[in-house]
Amino acid sequence: MPGSSIRLGLIVILTLSTFYIIGTKGDSLSDLESTIITHGGQVLRVTDPQYKKAAGLWNPAIQIWPSLILRPAIYDDVALALSTLYSLNAPVRIMGGRHSYGAYCSHEGVVLDSALLKNIIINWQDQTVTMQAGVIWSEVYTALEGSEYVVIGGLCPTVGVVGYTMGGGYNSMYTRSFGLASDNVLSFTVALYNGSITTASSTINPDLYWALRGGGGGNFGYVLEMTHKIHQINATKLPFGQLLFFNVTWVNHGDFTAVLRNWLTFLKEVADVDTRISFDVIVIVAPENSIVMMYGSFNGPQADFNPVFDPWLSKNPKPDFFNMQNYTLTDIIRVVGVPNNPFPTEQRQHIVSAMAINITDAMLDVILEPQPNSTSGVFQVMDIIYLHNSNKDKNTAWPFSDISFDIAPGFVWSKAEDDPLAIDVSERWLQRLRNAAAPTQSIVGAYLNYIDPYLPDWQTMYYRNHWERLREINTKWDPTWYFRFPQGIPPNNQRSNMKTLKNMKMI
Ligand SMILES: Cc1cc2nc3c(=O)[nH]c(=O)nc-3n(C[C@H](O)[C@H](O)[C@H](O)COP(=O)(O)OP(=O)(O)OC[C@H]3O[C@@H](n4cnc5c(N)ncnc54)[C@H](O)[C@@H]3O)c2cc1C
Repeated sequence: MPGSSIRLGLIVILTLSTFYIIGTKGDSLSDLESTIITHGGQVLRVTDPQYKKAAGLWNPAIQIWPSLILRPAIYDDVALALSTLYSLNAPVRIMGGRHSYGAYCSHEGVVLDSALLKNIIINWQDQTVTMQAGVIWSEVYTALEGSEYVVIGGLCPTVGVVGYTMGGGYNSMYTRSFGLASDNVLSFTVALYNGSITTASSTINPDLYWALRGGGGGNFGYVLEMTHKIHQINATKLPFGQLLFFNVTWVNHGDFTAVLRNWLTFLKEVADVDTRISFDVIVIVAPENSIVMMYGSFNGPQADFNPVFDPWLSKNPKPDFFNMQNYTLTDIIRVVGVPNNPFPTEQRQHIVSAMAINITDAMLDVILEPQPNSTSGVFQVMDIIYLHNSNKDKNTAWPFSDISFDIAPGFVWSKAEDDPLAIDVSERWLQRLRNAAAPTQSIVGAYLNYIDPYLPDWQTMYYRNHWERLREINTKWDPTWYFRFPQGIPPNNQRSNMKTLKNMKMI
């Protein structure tokens, strides 16, 4: 019976090795959990009372519930978590402010959450701020409040600092004066897939430094902290870093095309060369109430405002409402941001983005289309952010130094059963805009921070001609593509073949 004893022997070996693997896996994971807790961190599972709040994403339409949330309180424990999980071949996602429109900070496995890494250090002499990975923008604004300094961060105060910065990060009121968030980073501290910790700056690992500034959150490594420049607002000669903030509004006007054409002419003739001027334009065309509302700022003295703006504002059709205030960043957020928003939001959301060099008449027709039929339950808020000459450091992974606009409407709806319809309405709208822009090649990409899991040609739309260089850099820093997600940057030995919607629950 030699055959049966060999079979029995094999079964014993297999059983023992399975127990050994499970035992080792269990041991190293429970050792990791104990270490994290000992050092003041947290370990959350679905049965923990804090779990639901910790795992909740900004947008309920893309909610995914992870099996385990690890919240290290010190950098060494982030490093230990990565080396342990990597050796166990357990995939991770990195969680920051939880605003990703693609839910790429979460998945059904282990999530490494930065929520306890909250330190902020301001160096007034060097004019820098160093922020740990779990900081959100409102916390930095509170730290700078009362000073004359601003940092380039989000107008939505609950956005996380790292996710925002790695995608570029624009602030529609300040970026034309001081650049994108990614233009303003002096250095990163990064934990790599194997748990080693490194620095990226213009002199140390410059390839990684280039890629982290615009290459997108979740790629390359876990950013533990970053140091950004802060900027003194002194051109306005106002105290506390105030800008001249204005609102120009046209309501229920018969000729919104003329309103927007006049604005585009003003941009070309005046604002394109005067980077003190910023705009964020909201357009809603609905059967009952239609509105074009332009928020803007002027980073210059009051005496310069009227001579610059009057020729445009006195053109027909004249605005129904004009208002100007001296505002700090906190005041501006109170007006245009979402300071007391519930988190997660109640409404389901999808956003699409078109990075455009210019806006033609054919594109205006699509921008001014009436709201989707109200019976569909999907509501559209058009947002056009003026970004001409915003990119101040051309040596970063940000690929859009030539654009003037991000045309980025948000679509909102309330019922889960309307998810497929809402996505269809949004993506068809984007396609119509792209078709209208095609003859003039006015649209050159899509904004990575408004990540769109349904975008078919996302590699070229997000990254343009930087795609191959980013893959090359990721081959060096994350060779086995450990930090992997559906629209992530694969190293050269891997194919970008993850099904885009694999981990998504919404449809
Ligand atoms: C209401 C709202 C308003 C917004 N306004 C603006 C705006 O004005 N300007 C703008 O530029 N963007 C804006 N955004 C987009 C926002 O910048 C992106 O969604 C950004 O990715 C969010 O970062 P987060 O940390 O909050 O989100 P998360 O979902 O936690 O993270 C986003 C991505 O970054 C990765 N990531 C998070 N932390 C780290 C880390 N420490 N190391 C490495 N990767 C990490 C995640 O894995 C994920 O892939 C807005 C988004 C929302 C929802």
